[in-house]
Amino acid sequence: MGTGGGMAALAKLHPGPGLRLTRVEVPGVGPGQVRARVQLAGICGTDGHIYAWDRWAASRIRPPVVLGHEWMGLVDAVGPGVEGIEPGDRVTAEMHFYCGQCRACRAGQPHLCRHLRIGGVDTDGAFAQYVVVPARNVWRLDPSIPDEVAAIMDPLGNAVHTALAFPLSGATVAVTGAGPIGLAAIAVARRAGATAIFVTETSAPRRRLAALMGADRVMDPRDVDAVAVVLEATGGEGVDVLLEMSGHPDAIRQGLRMVRPGGAVAQLGLPPGEVTLELGEQVVMKGLTLKGIHGREIFRTWMQTSELLRGGLDVRPIVTHRLPLEAYEEAFELLASGQCGKIVLEIPGS
Ligand code: NAD
Ligand code: ZN
Repeated sequence: MGTGGGMAALAKLHPGPGLRLTRVEVPGVGPGQVRARVQLAGICGTDGHIYAWDRWAASRIRPPVVLGHEWMGLVDAVGPGVEGIEPGDRVTAEMHFYCGQCRACRAGQPHLCRHLRIGGVDTDGAFAQYVVVPARNVWRLDPSIPDEVAAIMDPLGNAVHTALAFPLSGATVAVTGAGPIGLAAIAVARRAGATAIFVTETSAPRRRLAALMGADRVMDPRDVDAVAVVLEATGGEGVDVLLEMSGHPDAIRQGLRMVRPGGAVAQLGLPPGEVTLELGEQVVMKGLTLKGIHGREIFRTWMQTSELLRGGLDVRPIVTHRLPLEAYEEAFELLASGQCGKIVLEIPGS
């Protein structure tokens, strides 16, 4: 297929639930931009919110928009002024598009950009045969990284950013929530030198994956008193670090009770609304350090993720399903069921 005949794209065409597999124009490549031919694209929980059209999606999404922000593919064209990236390069991209001008950007924290726009959320994304991104967002892939891992560098980066927020060498760790990002965080924590990893997760298949990724004790918080188990196993102290990877208010409260006085919390999970915490008893009086984690440090987290993968970090078991783009409805049903790890879509070729 040439680029003249349009391309397949999975898009939200109108406000409301569902998505449409449609044909749209192949996007042009402007100055400072790169166009890639997408091969694989991961489905994120965010895509599930947009598919279902919940309150967050209704407030944020302005259809029509092509979804998809986790992907890998081959560079197809580069715009004027782009240097160092060539057609044929195997790439993915940081899909948080930052302005480069605001205070955070200028202070070297573009992941906290005030004018952040997200590809596949605010602008057209990668559930399509072609995607266009700013050249400065492109990440060239190490050849040792398998395609399906390359396609999920974005959530892997979330996991690495969270897991490496505090020193884990010789540390005990709790992970609340073993979705795809929590699962990756378990593997990263293990490699970073954590000595004991306790995990809570409500989905049975994800608990099995958590054990596979290197967790020492995996619990269904509805079946056991997970706080008591952690305290018992740590001599009554609690863990050094909590990686909160669920966003569920119960898990956040429970996780805080697992942390020892003087410990640290890296909070990646995004709760759906306000959360009530025992702030005095569990944070202030315990002297906890609580750090919010947003996105990935651009590009420090990408470098760390790439090095971890080159060094043998194996996250392939997290990708439990590979489905063709046409099977997107099945994929989104599976996502909503929680009976899966990461789902990756195969984007059709020419
Ligand atoms: P996910 O929804 O697949 O994972 C969350 C997991 O938590 C699920 O497996 C769920 O079964 C589990 N869970 C629910 N209630 C629980 C409880 N009470 N105790 C223990 N586990 C429980 O999502 P994901 O893609 O792995 O992302 C993890 C979290 O990070 C989500 O909240 C997501 O919104 C958030 N997120 C944040 C950023 C960021 O930049 N801060 C980026 C991506 C995702
Ligand atoms: Zn900015």
